[in-house]
Amino acid sequence: MSFHTLGLSKPLLKAVSQEGYSEPTPIQKKAIPVVLEGRDVLAAAQTGTGKTAGFTLPLLEKLSQSHPKMKQKQIRALVLTPTRELAAQVAQSVKTYGAHMPYRSAVIFGGVGINPQLSALRKGVEIVIATPGRLLDIASQKCIDFSALEVLILDEADRMLDMGFIHDIKKLMKMMPQKRQTLLFSATFSPEIKKLASGLLHNPKTIEVARENTTAEQISQVVHHVDKSRKRELLSQLIKTKKWEQVLVFTRTKHGANRLTKQLEESGIKAAAIHGNKSQGARTKALADFKARKIGVLVATDIAARGIDIDQLPHVVNYELPNVPEDYVHRIGRTGRAGEKGEAVSLVCVDEHKLLYGIEKFIGSKIEKVDIEAFRPDPSIKPEPIQNGSNSRRRKRTGGSRSASHGGSNRQRSANRR
Ligand code: AMP
Repeated sequence: MSFHTLGLSKPLLKAVSQEGYSEPTPIQKKAIPVVLEGRDVLAAAQTGTGKTAGFTLPLLEKLSQSHPKMKQKQIRALVLTPTRELAAQVAQSVKTYGAHMPYRSAVIFGGVGINPQLSALRKGVEIVIATPGRLLDIASQKCIDFSALEVLILDEADRMLDMGFIHDIKKLMKMMPQKRQTLLFSATFSPEIKKLASGLLHNPKTIEVARENTTAEQISQVVHHVDKSRKRELLSQLIKTKKWEQVLVFTRTKHGANRLTKQLEESGIKAAAIHGNKSQGARTKALADFKARKIGVLVATDIAARGIDIDQLPHVVNYELPNVPEDYVHRIGRTGRAGEKGEAVSLVCVDEHKLLYGIEKFIGSKIEKVDIEAFRPDPSIKPEPIQNGSNSRRRKRTGGSRSASHGGSNRQRSANRR
């Protein structure tokens, strides 16, 4: 099947072909016709499946089908995302796929000056891509008008709920017209997502695509058991001996990311950390340097890495296993994207055996263990409780029973978000 059969017009087909896409991905095949029909959509699709084009292409097509007269500050489409990085990337996709169309877009998120964002809205845009917090600030100041909104898209809705954005989303929703098309994308269909969907979507078409990124053919997964104190040494050795040129390394905490980055730099490996305590400028620069191959290793926490779009990332390393099994799937989904092969390596110490067991249960298969002779763990070392760093300050909006029951991981997420 080619893109031509999906009902997209020439400017979009041209942009798609300029991107080098020859065939739509499964989520695109399923979502594009349904969105064009005008139906609400509840889609289970993870990063790496091509979901962004799955909603951006039909969104642009729909906008081109009518030409309403817009008043100042009115917008026609809104994409909500959990993180700044994802917002920036969706905005880039809107620009890329809309390159031959007249639509203007603005990206709105916290952590950077509000004035350029307000000025873009004043000048007039059809499409806004935003994180909920900053958008709500702007909407409360009446600097954006949702009365002409035609399409609302919630991207990575599960993450938005995890990060405590539900109240902001509900407040925003009250400002929007009832008659609109709504698309909700989420990696999972948890009871919370279903509840959110039932309040937001009208007779939605449910779309699910296989979790391609977790299949063994696309991503080879391996565990090396190693003592905690020797992980850094093993990582440096793997990078050097295997000649890895672009590696995304995950740590559990921001402090851990900083420390590891420093240690790698000291051993002659160019690295940068990307996490919630870094300014937007520093994060953008780290990502740009990584993409330009000026640095070989990007050390990231889970939230910061969400939505990072790097084509064909060959290696992902779990320097520390995540507390939540879903995060393992998200992490390894950073490699083996859109049909490319990838490798996910986890360095697991004795403290993390329980986490590994939980991950294997979640993904429904055992991960291959490969012993590296020189790094065999010392059997006399006994497990210790896992430290989650000092990020225990919570945001008000992440409080409540749900985040309490998730303990450290949500604390980590909410702290990282800032
Ligand atoms: P996403 O799941 O939206 O983050 O997309 C993952 C990656 O797949 C991005 O790097 C896209 O550029 C790429 N991609 C999206 N659609 C296609 C396609 N039809 N063919 C090849 N690559 C694609």
